[in-house]
Amino acid sequence: MPSADLRRHGHELIDWIADYLDGLAERPVLSPVRPGQVHQALPVEAPRLGEPLETIREDFERLIVPALAHWNHPRFFAYFNSSSSGPAILAELLAAALNVNTMLWKTGPAATELEQVVLGWLRALLGLPDGFRGWLYEGGSSSTLHALAAARQRALGLGLREGGLYQAPRLRVYASPQTHTSVDKALMTLGLGLGALRRVAVDSDHRMRVDALREAVAQDRRAGLWPCCVVATLGSTSCTAIDPIAPTARLCEAEGVWLHVDAAHGGALALLPERREDFAGWEGADSIVVNPHKWLMVPLDASVLYTRHPDVLRQAFSLVPAYLETREQHQVEDAMDYGITLGRRFRALKLWFTLRYFGQEGLQVRLREHLRLAQEVARRVDAHPLMERVAPVPMSTVCLRARHPRIAGGEQDAFNRRWLEAINATGRLFLSPTELDGRFVLRFVISGLRTQAHHVDEAWQTMDLTLGELLGCTLDRGPTVR
Ligand code: PLP
Repeated sequence: MPSADLRRHGHELIDWIADYLDGLAERPVLSPVRPGQVHQALPVEAPRLGEPLETIREDFERLIVPALAHWNHPRFFAYFNSSSSGPAILAELLAAALNVNTMLWKTGPAATELEQVVLGWLRALLGLPDGFRGWLYEGGSSSTLHALAAARQRALGLGLREGGLYQAPRLRVYASPQTHTSVDKALMTLGLGLGALRRVAVDSDHRMRVDALREAVAQDRRAGLWPCCVVATLGSTSCTAIDPIAPTARLCEAEGVWLHVDAAHGGALALLPERREDFAGWEGADSIVVNPHKWLMVPLDASVLYTRHPDVLRQAFSLVPAYLETREQHQVEDAMDYGITLGRRFRALKLWFTLRYFGQEGLQVRLREHLRLAQEVARRVDAHPLMERVAPVPMSTVCLRARHPRIAGGEQDAFNRRWLEAINATGRLFLSPTELDGRFVLRFVISGLRTQAHHVDEAWQTMDLTLGELLGCTLDRGPTVR
């Protein structure tokens, strides 16, 4: 592309992005598109001859954008929302332009060093001690996979590299039923198998019970199994439950078991001094995952794995073929030694732009506002005669259900499913489901950069209205009602 064209299209595209972000609230959050519709609308083959960018852009606007879920939408309240800030969008553009591969220090000296500096800044903002070293991976699942690989490495020692799991003792990993499935996937991937996972009972607020953990570890030792790793979560996926970290860390220390803390979403809250209590003891963890791409306004993908044992992580992953040797390799740290991928994106740039643009206080203001808005939603749910809140709200996720005395117990889940579908079908907001205590639950998560009080209010009105309409129909219809 001639640079004059790049310049022209670049200016136009930045204008498009600015207009898109400004106009998001007017769009439906979810597209009404049917499965297969986009596929059918696209040509079966790549073009033989190149096409003008104007045509590609036209198709992008006509076929792609209307068929998207808009994650930056201010009324996107599903999953754990990840939003992209202006500075981070620009940094991503630069990263693509530079196309630096941070596999080796030599192939990206500034990128490699910036990653360490910016992860050092974040570590300090989170109140973690200097002993933690961090690397950026593409997601929380990947960070956790690397953490569990390191835990396995420490448990089985150097022989693992050569001999694999053949004749290795049976390792055990402990986690609560609320733990993210990335742990299950890591165990499948690492050859430990799902059978290695021992679920530890939770209390009524869905927090892992340390007494149950202690008992589980002791039982396994008696049975000749090797306790290898405990995964504790600070902000569980369904309801942001906060596992008791300090006693868990003490137990792991005493037992010589690796403690991995999944703070993929919740870790952001450690930026708030008034919330540090929830994190007390996490400095005793062996590894911690925090995802800037969840609640720190950094677009996908950016997940940090901090560990106090970089040497063990390195043992698990380092392998240097002749073609990757460099003169500096003994003086520097090459990121490829700490992970499964060789090629790595320049992810630190967008985190650097974000931390500098917002500053600690700018991020704190937004986090506090999300917490405040979530408390407001919780208050409204509690006050609503036809809704119930089904979990505490320690962060900015509210778990709720509709209830009506005339809807039979066995019908409640089906009714709530219909309510969720009806809410999302309006296009006015997007909520996602989960299950708590065996019941179908709606999650209302406030973590989007562009979400303001009036967006929450509009969403609430739609939920209330939809519930009223659905109850009217349901109660009129007869059979589902007692
Ligand atoms: N950990 C927790 C607590 C999560 O909620 C999630 C995803 O929502 C993950 C890990 C996985 O993170 P990622 O989607 O970045 O792989």
